[in-house]
This record gives sequence, structure tokens and C-alpha cells, in this order.
Amino acid sequence: MSNLRFKAVEEAYKKKAAAVSAPAALTSDYYGRYVFNREQMTKYLSKATIKALATAIEKGDTLDLELANQVAAGMKTWALERGATHYTHWFQPLTDTTAEKHDSFIEYGGEPGSPVIEEFSGKLLVQAEPDASSFPSGGIRSTFEARGYTAWDPSSPAFIVDDTLCIPTIFISYTGEALDYKAPLLKALKAIDKAAVDVVNYFDKSVKKVYSYLGWEQEYFLIDDGLYATRPDLMLTGRTLIGHDSAKDQQLEDHYFGSIPTRVQAYMKDIEFEGYKYGIPIKTRHNEVAPNQFELAPIFGETNLSIDQNLLIMSIMKKVARRHGFRLLLHEKPFAGINGSGKHNNWSLGTDNGIGLLTPGKTPEENLLFITFVVNTLVAIWKNNALLKASIMTAQNAHRLGANEAPPAIVSVFLGEQLTEVLDKIEKSDKTEAIEIDDKKKLSLEIGSIPNMFLDNTDRNRTSPFAFTGNRFEFRAVGSSANCGSGMITLNSIVAAQLIEFKETVDAKIKKGAKEEDAIFEVLKDYIKKSKPIRFEGNGYSEEWKKEAAKRKLDCETSVPLIIDANTTEEAIKLFESVGVLTKTELESRNEVKWEIYTKKIQIEARVLGDLVLNHIIPVATKYQSALLDNVYKLYQVYAKEKASELGALDKGIIEEISERIAVIKHRVEDMIEARKVANKIESEREKAIAYHDKVLPFFDEIRYQVDKLELIVDDELWPLPKYRELLFLR
Ligand code: ADP
Ligand code: MG
Repeated sequence: MSNLRFKAVEEAYKKKAAAVSAPAALTSDYYGRYVFNREQMTKYLSKATIKALATAIEKGDTLDLELANQVAAGMKTWALERGATHYTHWFQPLTDTTAEKHDSFIEYGGEPGSPVIEEFSGKLLVQAEPDASSFPSGGIRSTFEARGYTAWDPSSPAFIVDDTLCIPTIFISYTGEALDYKAPLLKALKAIDKAAVDVVNYFDKSVKKVYSYLGWEQEYFLIDDGLYATRPDLMLTGRTLIGHDSAKDQQLEDHYFGSIPTRVQAYMKDIEFEGYKYGIPIKTRHNEVAPNQFELAPIFGETNLSIDQNLLIMSIMKKVARRHGFRLLLHEKPFAGINGSGKHNNWSLGTDNGIGLLTPGKTPEENLLFITFVVNTLVAIWKNNALLKASIMTAQNAHRLGANEAPPAIVSVFLGEQLTEVLDKIEKSDKTEAIEIDDKKKLSLEIGSIPNMFLDNTDRNRTSPFAFTGNRFEFRAVGSSANCGSGMITLNSIVAAQLIEFKETVDAKIKKGAKEEDAIFEVLKDYIKKSKPIRFEGNGYSEEWKKEAAKRKLDCETSVPLIIDANTTEEAIKLFESVGVLTKTELESRNEVKWEIYTKKIQIEARVLGDLVLNHIIPVATKYQSALLDNVYKLYQVYAKEKASELGALDKGIIEEISERIAVIKHRVEDMIEARKVANKIESEREKAIAYHDKVLPFFDEIRYQVDKLELIVDDELWPLPKYRELLFLR
């Protein structure tokens, strides 16, 4: 019998970097080639149509059929000229990936059987009904009226993948509830726009629109595809369920920012070329901390588009990996003992006249504006830290958060020395002094010095889940496989709600006779005091912080099914409804989906783990044991009893160790199966998920511990699964 592992290792060793070449000499020559963007529109749509479309997008209006027909006709011509034969509504159900169902453009020109023509009407562009009964809906659609429908999001441009025109859409039920990430995201962006404009108008009456910006940093692992194919756990769950540490992994920190391996370099170039064709402004590429771990990041952009681009690039990355003999791992924690992958979400707000609301300004007014947005963000996160955590917590991300790398499972905000100093100053300027400030000069003394202070804003706290980084906040707790929409819906919603409250409070003070600037200053002062518990500049990995955070009443829950509860507290429902983003029904059904997905993930992992140990590991361990037994037996044939016993002592020790470990493994697997059976009988999705977390998951580590010990003693030639050193260092 051949050992697949060795074959795969041998093959991987021989692989060379694939040849890749740029589609054109200059990136700008092919950038956005497959996107129906503004530039393309001018060639395929009339000026009037473009203008009407832009207005509809700006106002968030639905398109009338005539306009839709005109856009569809132009889009069709553009797509046909680029070889598209099919179209699809491209949407974001509550799973890990995007969904699409392709339809061909062909229709009979006349009666059935007559010659076909290419058809694409406004109706098909604007709305479709995918047979979507199998997408998670948390019970919003009972199966017999399982139809949801997709509706075009004109604010994100259509694009062509292979032969298919992809139309970004929202996905909602017949009764209008969101079944996806995009629908509530668009509402959250509208909410933050409105709330932020109202606040900015205190300072600048000309501002009509505020944009939410996102720049994501996508971390990932690449594994040789042959090795991947011999690891059922990687194939079915995206992570290794067993595997002993490699003697060397990331201790020397020699991978981070080191030179990029040639096969990987070719892959990176390839995804950049592909990404540029879709107008994805990929800017940086580098090695990450763990071996075989890498990152890419684009230039930030408007949040909705940036999320679509992230989803698109994730699918491109998956596809392109195959061309280079790799498999892409987007799982948050593919390997125990080394860093997992996150997707830092760099978030900021900016006005239609180009002012970054989280960028320190040059004048006192600008700085008060800046401080206003920083402080309101602080308060929003302080009040809703549990909710923000719930937005990014999944079965996979739970392995990463709190695992002494990247952020802990407690949300806090890092501001850095300079900003901390500024807030401390504002807090300490006593009330009368603050109110006395009627000439702006005094205020400018207090706050006006911020820009200088920021010149050396270099301190970075890698342990913080939410850190201020000079002109934005970096939300680091987001998982690598996540749809950024989930976190962005919550973040933009809580900040919107907070800005609304801020405005109401300030207005009330103004009504009572306070000067606008004084009122703002006073409220900010109060906010700075109140929100102190969320600020943490120290080491987020430390045990002391866990204790301190509990004292500060920050959410310290670590069980995923319970963390999710935060989405449906009375306050959370009130908040999401008040900003018009999600209703109680939607929140409740989305939690059902989250619990269900959690359960299924653990369930699949438990099954794979059981199969792996029973079918792959135990037989091999037994085989090795029997070889040792054979050896011992033969020793007794050749030598006198005493001598044989002496010579065979070591083997006997191993024989016994193998027996003991196999026995423990078998028992634990049986117990795990039993626990699963009990959990499966539970009706409530929440209770079931809790049972999987509390009663099934704990067996994973116990079983793994024994298997990993066996890996250390069993003959390497028999071991069937690629080891960590092979998975992590072959490329
Ligand atoms: P680092 O790894 O040092 O955090 P990167 O350059 O890898 O930085 O990524 C930073 C990301 O933040 C990029 O996507 C960048 O475009 C984005 N970014 C920069 N400024 C802003 C901003 N004002 N708002 C949102 N994102 C921003
Ligand atoms: Mg970063």
C-alpha cells in the first residue's frame, strides 16, 4: 500500500512557480476592465440615463421600469461584447460565501422553437427569484413559501466573471425581511449618513452626505493542494483537527515580512492581475506571522463596494490558488499553536467635501469635529461592546480570539498616547472653564494642538480589538472568512444611534440657552468620563486584563452561542429598530441562523474527527504496535528470557503507551458521539448550540491531545496524514 502522504510531499517538493504575466504593461490600462463602472457606462448609456441612475443611487430610490430597461440594454451590450453568455444575481446569504444562479441570455425570438436571441430586460436586471429555499432564513420563510427574491443594488457596479454578468443584489423574503448581509448594510449606511450629517452640520452647514469607509486586510494561508487532498479535516472543515506542533513554526519570527516564496509570489501577482480587472485596488502584499500565512489589502473605499470587492477577491483567491497548485485556507484558525487569520476592518467616516471625520484637523473647529466623532465612537462601543463582539463571533473565529494572538474576546478601544492625552485634557478642564470658553481662542489652546501631537503617531497596540490608527479605527476582531458586512452593519448602526443621541442632548442644551460650541464641549466631556471603561491601552492578552475588564462590566463571555444573545436583548432590538436597520423578527431569525450554523460546524467537525481517529490514526497506531510486538516476540526467540526482557523494555513501554492512548481515544470518541446524540434531540436552536459548545466541543482537545502524542511515537513512515512541518513549510 502506498502512503499518500509521501506521494503528496514528493509532488509538492517538485512544483515550480507558475508563469504569470500582466494583462497589459500598465495596470491602469486594464484596471476595471470587467466592471460596468461609470467610465464604461458613458460608452453604453445615454447621458440622461446615467444622470437618472446616479440620482436614484444617491437618493436610494427604486428605479422605474423604463430606466431599468435602458440600463439593462446598455449593460447587455457591454457584457455580450466581453463574451458573457449568462447573467446572475449575485447575493450574500447568511452563509460564508456569495451565491449565484446563472441564467443564459437566450430567449426565443418569437414562438417557441424560433431562432434564439439575446435578451436582458430591466425586469431581469432589477429583480429575480432564485430558488432559495435552502438558504438559511431562521424560520422567516417556512419551506412551502420558500421564495425569497433578489433586488439590484445599483450602488455596486455589475461585473463579469468568466462568461457571466454578475449583478450585485440584496436578498429579501416576500414579506420584506432581510435574508442577507447587504440589505441591512445599505440601511446602516443610510443611517450613519443621516446621523453623521446632522452632527457635522453643527460645524459645516454645506455637508450633505457622509460616507462610511472600509479598508480590509485579508489574511490567508496557502497549502499545497496535494497535501490538502490527503487531509480530510482540511478538506471538510477548513482546519486541522489533529496534528502535533512542528518543532519549528513561528518562534523565530523569520517569516513575517520575509522574502515571499516564489510559488507564492506568482500566486500573489496573479490575484492582483485578476483583482485589478475588477477594479479592486489591491495595494499591499506580504508574508504574515505564521509560516505559509500571507496578507493582501486594497486601498480603502466606500463600505458597500469595499465589502463586495472583498467577497469577490475571496472567490478569486480560491479559484486562482488551484492554478498554482495551492489550496486557499480562509479559516480563522487552520492550525493550532500558531497565529490564525483575521481581517482587520479599517473604518472611518468622511464627508462629501473630503473631510475625514476621524482625521485630526488643522483648525480648532476641525479638531472639535474630530474629537466629536472619536468620542461618540467610544461611547457607542462602550455601550454596545457585547453587541459588536456578537457581530463577528463564529465557531471559527472563537478559536482565534483570545488565543494569545490578535485580539482577545473582550472588546476594548485603544487610542494611543496622544489621543489619550487630548481626551484627558478635555476631561480635566473644569466645567466653568469649559463653559467660559466663549472666544474660540481658548478652545483652540485646548484642542488646537492635536495635529502636532499626531505627527509621531506610531504607537501600535497589536492586542487591541479596536484601535485608533491616526485617521481611522481598526476593528481587528473580524475573522478572515467573514463577510465584513456583519461587523459593518453593527458598527455603523451603533455609531449612528449614538450620534442621534448626541445631537438630541446637544440640542436640548442649546434650547436651554447654551451656546452651540459650549453645549458640544460639555456633552463630550461627560461622554469622555462615562466611556472610560472601554479604553484600554495595556496588554489585552494578560490575565489581569480579563479581571479588570470584568470589573469594568465589559462583556467577557466566551461561549459563542451565549455571545450571540447580545443581538436580541431589549436594548439591541430598540437600537436596530430606531436606526431602521433590522427589526425584532429579523434579529431573532438571524440569531436562529447563527446558532444553527454554529451547531452544524461543530457537528461536522466532530464527525470528521471521529472518522479520522477511528479510520486513519488508530489502525496505523495498531499496526506499529504490532510491529513492536513482533520485535519483542522475536527477541524472546533469539535471546535468553532475561536478556530479551532487557532489550525489549523500551518497545514494551511504547506498546503499552499506544494501548493506553488508543483506549482513551476510543472512549472519548464514544462519549463524544453520545453527547452529540443527546444534543441532536434538543429542539431549540439556541439550546442545541449551547449543548454543542458545552458538551461536544470539549472532547476535541482531549482526543487531539492523545492523537498528537501518538504522532510523536508512531513510525513516521506509517503516519498517514501530512504533518504540520510539511503543511507549513512546503510551498
Ligand atoms: P497596517 O497593516 O499597517 O494596518 P495596511 O496598509 O495593511 O496597514 O492596511 C491599512 C488599510 O487601511 C488599507 O486598506 C488602507 O487603505 C486602509 N485605510 C487607510 N486610511 C483609511 C481611512 N481613513 N479609512 C478607512 N480605511 C483606511
Ligand atoms: Mg492593520
